Amino acid sequence: MQQLREKDESFYRRQSFWMDTVEDSLEPRPALTRRLTADVVIIGAGFTGLWTAYYLKRHAPMLEVVVLEADIAGFGASGRNGGWASAYLAGIENMVADPERREGALRLQQMMIETLPEMARVAADEGIDCHFEQSGHLAAAMVPAHLSRLKAHVRELRELGFSEADCHYLEPGELASKIQIDGALGGLFMAHCAAIQPARLVRGLARAVERQGVHLFEKSPVTGFGPGGVNTEHGSICTEHTLICTEGYSGSLPQMKRKLIPLHSMMVATRPLTAAEKRQLGLRHRTTFNNVNHLVTYGQVTADDRIAFGCRGRYFYDAAVCRTFDPHDPVFEAVRAELLSFFPFLEGIDFTHAWGGALGVSRQLEPMVCFDRDAGLGWSGGYFGDGVAASALAGRTLADLVLGRETDRTHTPWVNPKQIRRLDQGLWEPEPLRWLGVQLRANLMRWTDAAEHRDHPLAPVMQRMLRLAP
Ligand SMILES: Cc1cc2nc3c(=O)[nH]c(=O)nc-3n(C[C@H](O)[C@H](O)[C@H](O)COP(=O)(O)OP(=O)(O)OC[C@H]3O[C@@H](n4cnc5c(N)ncnc54)[C@H](O)[C@@H]3O)c2cc1C
Repeated sequence: MQQLREKDESFYRRQSFWMDTVEDSLEPRPALTRRLTADVVIIGAGFTGLWTAYYLKRHAPMLEVVVLEADIAGFGASGRNGGWASAYLAGIENMVADPERREGALRLQQMMIETLPEMARVAADEGIDCHFEQSGHLAAAMVPAHLSRLKAHVRELRELGFSEADCHYLEPGELASKIQIDGALGGLFMAHCAAIQPARLVRGLARAVERQGVHLFEKSPVTGFGPGGVNTEHGSICTEHTLICTEGYSGSLPQMKRKLIPLHSMMVATRPLTAAEKRQLGLRHRTTFNNVNHLVTYGQVTADDRIAFGCRGRYFYDAAVCRTFDPHDPVFEAVRAELLSFFPFLEGIDFTHAWGGALGVSRQLEPMVCFDRDAGLGWSGGYFGDGVAASALAGRTLADLVLGRETDRTHTPWVNPKQIRRLDQGLWEPEPLRWLGVQLRANLMRWTDAAEHRDHPLAPVMQRMLRLAP
């Protein structure tokens, strides 16, 4: 038994730099092995599930809330991500562009901005030191096409209500005074982004909800759910409300398989930078950074002065989820090379960690918070790589919906969107169409990036095709 526990502990630590460096034990909590009754059952102990549990108990302390987790709290994307708590909500541009949703989308954007201080407040109240530092985000334009995209993005952000203080364009010299990205032609500064250590947050939230009286069972994969109940491998729970908070890790639940598909993003971390290297980097705070390629990149300097950096989306046939990645997988060489293209002076630096994780993508490429009181079912996800802060607002909203609380949050366009609010609506295409579609889009992004970097005359056409791709 002792050996098994050690095996679990070292397996879970290997899943990311963040999980490797949390202070608490990663030994799993006991599994569910009996029959229980609860008011609300939450499937998945990532940010969405735990924030939902947190707000449920805050508003209704007497509620019996159970969280069931297949592995351990933070095993999914919440313990593996880039640690950007950003007020950006994926798909918000579409919501704003739609006259029916515009007003609600603008309110939703404001709520996202307010979510950052709320996360910091809860972390402080609950004694969770998740290395939260809101020093913004810098996006670097590397080629002329990026510059025009960034300027257009600043205009879009103004439409969303962002002021000059919230976000502004940076001339090359201004960008260089904040971060030394090789060859950058200019950039964008966004104030509403914090760097965090995500595993510290998700593990801290798990402890916080337990203190509130939530029952958290780990190593308890849900094998089926339906009206009135949830089954796990060795137990079951009779409940009126089941909330599915499994995002990119939903593959084991047949009802979710085509609702949210897993895209895998890959990350690496360097050894801690020396004082001289930090000076060369030019970054005085832990401002997060990326470039404006279509294939998303994201980096942060950790509290112990490493660079944690990620990029590269991967989709595996039939929405398969890769639980753990071999650090020798050749894909990590490409991630390391991408980081070194930002900071060539780091050539030869040791990398200590390499990992990947799955994020959830909906067919509409927009996140959703759904609750069907008649069916007793709710779910949230599809944050499309921007789920750290979005899941906090989503969890708070899901809790409002379950408790029947009418709040500003429950009247926003991502709540129960028309035509796709049910689990069997708005699904991804069956295979092999889904795989072909995702590969085509990923290749188009890659080709467009390559064309933009070569200033190819077809680059603007490819960029338009990407915008129009279904
Ligand atoms: C590499 C990477 C980098 C990212 N970077 C960022 C970033 O910098 N900023 C940002 O905003 N977002 C980022 N994201 C996205 C963000 O991490 C996620 O959107 C967010 O963490 C999702 O949280 P969640 O709780 O919904 O899902 P998850 O954290 O994935 O949790 C789902 C949980 O459900 C459990 N589960 C699955 N099936 C079952 C079952 N049958 N029974 C019980 N439990 C089950 C899983 O084990 C898992 O623990 C990134 C994602 C990845 C993978």
